[in-house]
Amino acid sequence: MVRMAKTGKLFVISAPSGTGKTTLCKKLFKALPNLVRSISVTTRSLRDGEQNNREYFFVDEKDFKESLSKGYFLEYAKVFDNYYGTPREFVEKNLKQNNDVVLAIDVQGAMQVMKNFRSQSEFIFILPPTINDLRERLLSRHTETEIQIQHRLAAAKKEMSYVKKYDHQIINDNLEEAFKKLLSIINRGSCKI
Ligand code: 5GP
Repeated sequence: MVRMAKTGKLFVISAPSGTGKTTLCKKLFKALPNLVRSISVTTRSLRDGEQNNREYFFVDEKDFKESLSKGYFLEYAKVFDNYYGTPREFVEKNLKQNNDVVLAIDVQGAMQVMKNFRSQSEFIFILPPTINDLRERLLSRHTETEIQIQHRLAAAKKEMSYVKKYDHQIINDNLEEAFKKLLSIINRGSCKI
């Protein structure tokens, strides 16, 4: 009989920009401190309030591409003209140690994880109630220009066409309700329970 080694689980969370994913993930890590957050590498510039090595590892494109060529990333994607990637070693080490890991990544990256880690992953997609609602949220956070917002809305529509490939969908029309659903999905799927 072949005995499979027990490993942690990967929870992949995707959402169009402005859907509230960051807020929901922050609440999640506070509620479940044993859940491991993978910090991505990105070539985008820091936003107000962000810190290098906390929200992301911020690098330049040359360094990103060098890491990419060395196989450093478990998955990567170019999103809104910037590169983003998940450090492979950190995630694989935690899975081996039977820790559950969360990847908050875009749909292109999620499809790569689906291909390579399907049996040990759960895929969660967070949706805005409507596209108009998303536009309002993007406007209110004042971090993008009008052109960037239009870009993000077009990208959101494209991303939302992937929702059927995900195991779970959460509509974030009420933060607390959406959070309860997210928590229950993670608690049910967790290897620790
Ligand atoms: P933001 O720049 O607004 O933080 O993120 C933009 C998009 O990049 C979001 O959809 C976010 O989930 C995605 N993203 C962040 N880190 C990664 C990553 O490591 N890989 C991939 N594929 N997407 C990422």
